[in-house]
Amino acid sequence: MKTIPPERVSVIALRMLREALGESVETDRDQLYPVAYDGLKIAGSPEALIKIERSEDVSAVLKIANEYSIPVTCRGAGSSLTGGATPFQGGWVLDLSGLNSISIDQPNMLAICGPGAVVGELQEQADQLGLFYPPDPSSKKFSTLGGNVACNAGGLRCVKYGVTRDYVLSLSGYLPTGEFVKWGRATRKFATGYNLRDLWIGSEGTLGVITEITLRLILATESRITFLAAFEDDKSALGAPLALCKMGIRPSIIEYMDRWTIDCLQKYVEKEVFTGIAPRPMLLIELDGAPEVLKKEQEMVSAWLRNSSIDFRTALEESEAEELWEVRRQGSSAMKKLANTKLNEDIVIPLNRQVELVNFVNELREEFKLKIGVFGHCGDGNLHVNFMYNEEDPLETDTAVTALHRLMDKVISLDGAISGEHGVGLAKTPFVRNQFNDAEWNTMKAIKNTLDPKGILNPGKIFDVFKPWDQKKENVVLSWEHK
Ligand SMILES: Cc1cc2nc3c(=O)[nH]c(=O)nc-3n(C[C@H](O)[C@H](O)[C@H](O)COP(=O)(O)OP(=O)(O)OC[C@H]3O[C@@H](n4cnc5c(N)ncnc54)[C@H](O)[C@@H]3O)c2cc1C
Repeated sequence: MKTIPPERVSVIALRMLREALGESVETDRDQLYPVAYDGLKIAGSPEALIKIERSEDVSAVLKIANEYSIPVTCRGAGSSLTGGATPFQGGWVLDLSGLNSISIDQPNMLAICGPGAVVGELQEQADQLGLFYPPDPSSKKFSTLGGNVACNAGGLRCVKYGVTRDYVLSLSGYLPTGEFVKWGRATRKFATGYNLRDLWIGSEGTLGVITEITLRLILATESRITFLAAFEDDKSALGAPLALCKMGIRPSIIEYMDRWTIDCLQKYVEKEVFTGIAPRPMLLIELDGAPEVLKKEQEMVSAWLRNSSIDFRTALEESEAEELWEVRRQGSSAMKKLANTKLNEDIVIPLNRQVELVNFVNELREEFKLKIGVFGHCGDGNLHVNFMYNEEDPLETDTAVTALHRLMDKVISLDGAISGEHGVGLAKTPFVRNQFNDAEWNTMKAIKNTLDPKGILNPGKIFDVFKPWDQKKENVVLSWEHK
């Protein structure tokens, strides 16, 4: 058989792709630029953008890509903060945002959705029918269900309702070879064979392309109550998740802000959150459910807060709750004013180790003279540790990166994980190997090699250390969130 020279391979593959899909294939550089990067803002060099309008076209794309070993990177909204949707090794970007159908089966309390459907839109449509899809990443207004499933997205309400994985009943899609598969069924239970549905969830587009998602819905909640409380110290604040759980209360949200974050936001808004109280760790707690249950829980939480906090406010109305939420939202905006780069990590640790982790961050802040703020989903032990520094300053960057390595080592030593919701992508590749022992790592690699022997799906993610960036600046690692 005649061997095709490597430089001709991508030309031939592209010609075949055009023959198969025609107009849906875009190669104009101006059109490719917006899909060359994601929320990490490190650009790859894609050769083609394929806008998928019919799920069966995914099969045609993958068959050609697999034959010619062309990298294929799936893309929803491109809001990944880790470089997951970046076509880092070139090749083709598979834009699935056009497969955005939402069909709600009200009697069975299910939603059958295309991967391009936006999370917030599903929530709105479900709400109109008295139903509820709880996973709520802060990106819900634009991020897609396909991206959420591929990253096993979390969000604020996970403490009571769980993560994306907890709502997925079945996934349809294509293997890297272009063969169709459906993992799981639209049933509440499934104990038939290996659970490959869960293998795809959180696999960051490295094992298959999702083209249809069946989700479980629940009944919409009736009302909610919001509390904002200031605590003397981290021990009192971070004790809340287990203390409330032991009282039989399951808040839908428990968000933590450390003393440093509160100090930063008070300077930003030029106002004290609680008049006369110096910056202290705070919690935003939300309860939801039937009004009669909520009334009793409100009394119990108020009694607990009277004992455990310095001061607290309660919001029963939507507008009052919004005011309390502003405090949580402003933390991030305030931090972004401090430097041109904000590195937002999403580590997760066991609930009872959170104080240890925050103490460790306090030590890092002192030792490295760095601006580091902690806030996030303490009900799940999923804390966002934010490093602020100026990227142009090599010394500041080096210091932030050294501190980041120390943080990740600490997280692993606390039996935690380097990512609780954003995934590994490119940004966490320098740390991920330390998370696993040899047997675990080799098993993951064996799965990847079995399902995708030519390594065409999202190459460079999870397993390879992010070398190009290392070349630019040794050991620099990122979850960069530019202003
Ligand atoms: C302001 C902001 C707030 C955020 N808040 C949160 C938060 O609270 N919680 C949270 O978990 N995340 C959060 N994120 C991160 C991001 O929104 C999530 O990771 C989200 O799940 C990505 O969805 P997407 O549609 O943008 O996917 P993309 O960024 O396009 O892709 C993400 C990954 O999924 C893969 N993928 C996409 N579609 C498919 C498919 N159909 N089949 C197979 N693989 C696919 C991609 O290849 C990539 O690896 C936030 C991001 C931003 C910018």
